[in-house]
Amino acid sequence: MGYLVYYGHSAFELGVDGKKILIDPWLSNPLSPVKPEDVTGVDLVVLTHGHDDHVGDAVTILRRNPGAKLVAIYELANHVAAKARAEDRAVGGNMGGPMHVDGLRIALVPANHSSPIGAPTGVVIQSSEGTVYHAGDTGLMSEMQFIGEIYKPDIALLPIGGHFTMDPVEAAKAVELLKPKVAIPMHYATFPVLYGKPEEFKRLVEERAPGVEVVILKPGERYEFSFKH
Ligand code: ZN
Repeated sequence: MGYLVYYGHSAFELGVDGKKILIDPWLSNPLSPVKPEDVTGVDLVVLTHGHDDHVGDAVTILRRNPGAKLVAIYELANHVAAKARAEDRAVGGNMGGPMHVDGLRIALVPANHSSPIGAPTGVVIQSSEGTVYHAGDTGLMSEMQFIGEIYKPDIALLPIGGHFTMDPVEAAKAVELLKPKVAIPMHYATFPVLYGKPEEFKRLVEERAPGVEVVILKPGERYEFSFKH
């Protein structure tokens, strides 16, 4: 059984194939129920891009979890790993075919956004328990159709807050392109400027992509899944 725990903003804990993975671990965000110091047993830290609200507490987590590797686009992985004095644990890749890390297949995919270090990405994590796509920060882009066709994500984690990313209108179109089984909204309500509402996203997905389940997670909430591959 795989699981996701939402920690608010774009921070998730993903558990698949016995690995504990933190994606965009800004655990000190205003909505988060956990402190970065309290997270243990981490196998992988995955970053989509170099903005502070996504790199988040990666350095603290890497320092406190000496077995954890860092997966990100090459320049960002090296930069953050150096700050954490964890250069030997950096797994830097780039957009293209998946990296093979700890028995998982992890593909960096395009994101329509900006980044102070390296290029902005989304990430697709393939395991025996399912395929999860974390879109990072992105606007709507036609590449989502190819991400859907090639990786067939079971679960898509999509930003809906607007202003810096898609809002519910674009995100619902993204669901139509990606064709996941489950869509989970993220990157909303952290600050007033992130105006997108998950209920509106759910309503629009029901119109545009009937059959896709929208799961709205509260910070701290856990969602379990099993999609055999
Ligand atoms: Zn960003």
